[in-house]
Amino acid sequence: ATPTALMVGSGRGAERGILIRSGEAIQTMKDVKVIAFDKTGTITQGRPQVTDVLPSDSSSSEEVLLYAASLESVSEHPLASAIMQKAEESGVSRKEVQDFESITGKGVKGHIGDHEIIVGNRKILSMFNVDYQEFADRMDELEQAARTVVLVVMDGKVIGILAIADTLKEDSVHAIKAIENIGIKTAMITGDNRKTAEAVAEMVGISHVISDVLPGGKVDEIKKLQSEYGMVAMVGDGINDAPALKQANVGIAIGTGTDIAIESADITLVRGDLKSVVSAIKLSRSTFRKIK
Ligand code: ADP
Ligand code: MG
Repeated sequence: ATPTALMVGSGRGAERGILIRSGEAIQTMKDVKVIAFDKTGTITQGRPQVTDVLPSDSSSSEEVLLYAASLESVSEHPLASAIMQKAEESGVSRKEVQDFESITGKGVKGHIGDHEIIVGNRKILSMFNVDYQEFADRMDELEQAARTVVLVVMDGKVIGILAIADTLKEDSVHAIKAIENIGIKTAMITGDNRKTAEAVAEMVGISHVISDVLPGGKVDEIKKLQSEYGMVAMVGDGINDAPALKQANVGIAIGTGTDIAIESADITLVRGDLKSVVSAIKLSRSTFRKIK
């Protein structure tokens, strides 16, 4: 592209809250065939809230919250803040944690008093051979309602589950529709489970869902999309999105996201809403249409 076109593009982008680090990226944007979106904090607001606390017959909501919130107080995951907030609202105090361990993409583990506590998804329960059959049906129902379910385990037994919901960003549905109307395919890449991921994708209008991706696995998913479709843009906000943002032909960070995502991206959406992705595509097409 001519330097003038790039400068004009950058200036018009800045007016729309689109910060462009590389002129090449905004030029590539017009040739993108697929845009892959992270789920939490990108399509959704990233402020998850506990909606349900379901104790087992031998436990209580207070006990489930007490152990879950105590263990999660050491974690930095968005789900952890939701659980701690719920415990606080419910007036449940916290206990001290020892031997804390975080297993990425799966959950957390530690000792509280004499008890071994595990909080996380099916994958971490399988790792430690914990049976969750008693809750399987309720988990399915909650996940079909787009909630993320977290299991709470004490000494090898599930004492309860927590359902956590995150609200869609206001313009996510419109933005996805607009992108599809332009003729660009949309996909979602998430570490969350298939059912929850599919429920969220359906609400927002994304048909291609890539779920259960372990942190670090997002890069490979971008590579697969590239070999199948060609130019790929990735939109994300998290630490674990950073390598995928670099791998993508155009990496787009949510401005309200983590610094590492922003540093890894070619474009930053200051306002953090997905409408700006549509503006970026239009900007790219209008700036570079005539110079070929
Ligand atoms: P994403 O950023 O796409 O939500 P993550 O890899 O951060 O994906 O997490 C994937 C899944 O791992 C979560 O949906 C949750 O089930 C589980 N998980 C990760 N960290 C925690 C935690 N601190 N507490 C409970 N569950 C967790
Ligand atoms: Mg995210």
